[in-house]
Amino acid sequence: MIIKIKDIKEDQVKKLVIDIGKEHFLDIDPEVSLSNRLKGEINLFLEDKICLQGKIAYNLSLPCFRCNKSFEKQFTVDINEYYEEYDASNSSIKDIELNSKSIITFPLINGEIDILNVIRDYLITSIPIYAVCPICNESESQRR
Ligand SMILES: [Zn+2]
Repeated sequence: MIIKIKDIKEDQVKKLVIDIGKEHFLDIDPEVSLSNRLKGEINLFLEDKICLQGKIAYNLSLPCFRCNKSFEKQFTVDINEYYEEYDASNSSIKDIELNSKSIITFPLINGEIDILNVIRDYLITSIPIYAVCPICNESESQRR
């Protein structure tokens, strides 16, 4: 799912409908898997930078930190990224920089963005370190 930036016109918003099968994300984590298709919508447009904005939703099956049983958890994640043209002849490039809005600007390599890779990064980042299933969560709150 590679988008070529030169195909996008200055005043145009490119809408990408995202509907990706879990087979594309088998490598995200040995214990975590997608339990249905990942769906969402991402808009790509040009301002002073190349902007990628949207939302993705998916369910993950992940092990409970307390009882170790797998359970399903729903996720909705906002996508917000900026890209800048990457000049291969310029050796003094900053790889990743934070701008004032704390949004990461990535270098655009070969004029392309691989949407699948972007989504995979968000997916991996969204996996909680200590996920607790509803049953354990319930018994925990009763103890308090
Ligand atoms: Zn549990």
